[in-house]
Amino acid sequence: MATTPETSVEARAKYEPVIGLEVHVQLLTVSKIFCSCSTRFGDSPNTNVCPVCLGLPGALPVLNRKAVEFAVRAAMALDCAIHETSIFARKNYFYPDLPKGYQISQYDKPLAEFGGIDIPTAGGTRKIGITRLHLEEDAGKSLHEGFRDSAETTAIDLNRSGVPLIEIVSEPDLRSPAEAYEYLTRLKEIILYTGVSDCNMEEGSLRCDANVSVRPRGQKPFGTKTEIKNVNSFRFIREALEYEIDRQIGIVEAGGKITQETRSYNSAEGKTYGMRSKEQAHDYRYFPEPDLLPLVVDEKWQTEIRRSLPELPEARRQRMVADYGITAYDAQVLTSTKAFADQFEAAAEAAKNPKRVANLVQSELVGRLKAAGLEIEKSPISMKGVALSADLVESGAISGKMLKHLYDLCFDRGQDFPAVYDQERPQQITDSAAIEKIIDEIIAANPKQAEQYRAGKKTVVGFFVGQVMKASQGQANPQMVNQLLAKKLEN
Ligand SMILES: [Zn+2]
Repeated sequence: MATTPETSVEARAKYEPVIGLEVHVQLLTVSKIFCSCSTRFGDSPNTNVCPVCLGLPGALPVLNRKAVEFAVRAAMALDCAIHETSIFARKNYFYPDLPKGYQISQYDKPLAEFGGIDIPTAGGTRKIGITRLHLEEDAGKSLHEGFRDSAETTAIDLNRSGVPLIEIVSEPDLRSPAEAYEYLTRLKEIILYTGVSDCNMEEGSLRCDANVSVRPRGQKPFGTKTEIKNVNSFRFIREALEYEIDRQIGIVEAGGKITQETRSYNSAEGKTYGMRSKEQAHDYRYFPEPDLLPLVVDEKWQTEIRRSLPELPEARRQRMVADYGITAYDAQVLTSTKAFADQFEAAAEAAKNPKRVANLVQSELVGRLKAAGLEIEKSPISMKGVALSADLVESGAISGKMLKHLYDLCFDRGQDFPAVYDQERPQQITDSAAIEKIIDEIIAANPKQAEQYRAGKKTVVGFFVGQVMKASQGQANPQMVNQLLAKKLEN
């Protein structure tokens, strides 16, 4: 948990945080953005390198078409306008893991602008603007630990040098750490749906920097911002922002001034620390990259890429609500990952009653998975199994109670539903004489309800069905119970 500085509730109420996020996403291309070296993660240091990504003099970059396609697809999914022509630029700075002394990025003519993501907030859905999305190359990695002489020296791995990235810059539209968390969650979900990145934060495929300032509520001009860098989980970003907002309020309340700077977050302590004064854009001496032509993504190519866009999560949820008659909340659960949603839809479409499949997943499957600590992909019961069980309940071949029992067995044995169902073949009472006997006893024991039924209150039948199923320990065939009950109660 973040440790928050001493900031009173009243002080917090006086100020409004203003947050903007910069997210770097690594694209899932096989090769790097300007050379044919592999982008594979985890290979031995400095094995996936060549003169281009080592920044040797005279080596020339050649743009990877797939990286452009992926970047455009992501930009479209984030509702951005694509610029037909964009320009690569050199961002000049010195750093040990940047052998060329500059990074090829995009500056005043980025690939895409003016996008947005809808996020749910306390006051309803709000669009968070995306200022720009541009393409750039990654730098190498400094290794400060893991070697015998790590105490004295830093090692460099240039395998990551030249791996394609997109940078997605949001407008300063976010007003709380919770909103920042929501934005990142939605952003990651959309990118995962497009398939252009695995968004694996542990491997650095998704990295986030946060800009944050505070201002008195009602004041228009922004306060001085700080930038929090290199935070490696969404939860830590939320905690770092909580800490940083309180720290800034504390300074302003005490009559002090915020220093514009870059800060790092120490998750063990829950605190941010100043690293260096923040660079301004002019510090980088940007200029157009002379070794690359302007990037042109013409209308024909854009149309082609737009065709490759999958249905996006929000649109999918809305369609699923309409298609399966489920609630917005149900749709949210079922679309938690694309793989899950795909499996669910295939199963639901094959089942007699898609709505029942949706209900079973939530009422019977999700809870058991949680209890067993399993992701949906590791579920012993496949979506096909859920569909079969739904059909069996639908046709009255098994009761809801039996289904629960069978699901428990599936989890105990680590077997799918069809296999367990075959082994168990649950006993069902289909002998009408036996069922009639139970019904007679139940009606005799509940004369008041029977009278209500005969007086026209037909819904009372539900009570009788429940009683009969209970008396038969869930084994009476529900369809037969319904038919026989109606007949007996009419007399
Ligand atoms: Zn290379």
